[in-house]
Amino acid sequence: MQKQKIGKIFIDRDLCIGAASCIAVLPDVFELDNENKAVVKNPAAADDETLLLAAQSCPTKAIIVYDEEGNQIYP
Ligand code: SF4
Repeated sequence: MQKQKIGKIFIDRDLCIGAASCIAVLPDVFELDNENKAVVKNPAAADDETLLLAAQSCPTKAIIVYDEEGNQIYP
């Protein structure tokens, strides 16, 4: 899984409960907007492995990760 390059991260706003675990892992990448939903601020601020860790830290699996070909890597 670590070998795949991340192409895109998407946050499913219906799933996000504002638990902010993603922000605890990567405060430079994610932030909460005024509706208490996570948004991707700067995906380039972390390496792929840490991005994947942040996605895995989300209790509702609201962070969807795609590789460069657009295939879903996680969850
Ligand atoms: S960890 Fe998941 S539920 Fe929590 S703020 Fe991030 S995306 Fe939303």
